[in-house]
Amino acid sequence: MTHAHFTSLALPLTTIGMALALGLQDKVTYDDTPLLPDSEYRVHGERPWPEVVQPGGPAVAPSDATVLFDGANLDAWEGNGGDAGWEVENGYAQVNGKGDIRTRAEFGDIQLHLEFQTPSEVKGSSQGRGNSGIYIMGRYEVQILDSFENPSYPDGQCSALYGQTPPLVNVCRAPGEWQTYDILFRAPRFEGKDLLQPARVTVIHNGVVTQWDQEYIGATAHRRVGTYSPHAPAGPLKLQDHGNPTRFRNIWVREL
Ligand code: MG
Repeated sequence: MTHAHFTSLALPLTTIGMALALGLQDKVTYDDTPLLPDSEYRVHGERPWPEVVQPGGPAVAPSDATVLFDGANLDAWEGNGGDAGWEVENGYAQVNGKGDIRTRAEFGDIQLHLEFQTPSEVKGSSQGRGNSGIYIMGRYEVQILDSFENPSYPDGQCSALYGQTPPLVNVCRAPGEWQTYDILFRAPRFEGKDLLQPARVTVIHNGVVTQWDQEYIGATAHRRVGTYSPHAPAGPLKLQDHGNPTRFRNIWVREL
């Protein structure tokens, strides 16, 4: 007879089957093994079990991506009059009222990944809840908002092209949970002063398509219809400081 302990061997088979189906298995330890040197514990013996921690999501950028923020610092970004002034701690950057930040590098057609978290403590209402946003080329916003049970106007919801196009669905996670954006953006084409082709965007929010090859009417505007003005084929990515302590992590971009 083995000296290993299988703590639920006495359970009926149906219960064991249920436990296995749930991923619950018997603890296995040995009490006939030698003591470890200078220890009260035996080799493979009973001792405190490691705490279970939930892993985060996939956070590894593709090898050909330009990493814009990996949790360490905001060196790839600048703010008003110099370096980006947002707080960086615990692997995320947090809006702190020091103004928008933008990438030092400029981009045109891109694939963009970013993760964000609206504040766990819900303060304010409507557009005052976890408002931020990613402005592609510094002009074309994909809205970030705490849209979890927040009936603010549809074209201002999270994943909206602000003031233009509501998301196809509202797939917001609860306040305080990390969320993902994967964005495919095609820059507008100009010839002189003329718009040849508008900007287009596909947005995948938490793994769900919320904008599908959607055309921008023009640059993002508040309370008016956005319009196009000719601009260079590349521009910075801008993250909005709307006064709410929204957090960001794991930001990378691939030029297309
Ligand atoms: Mg915004």
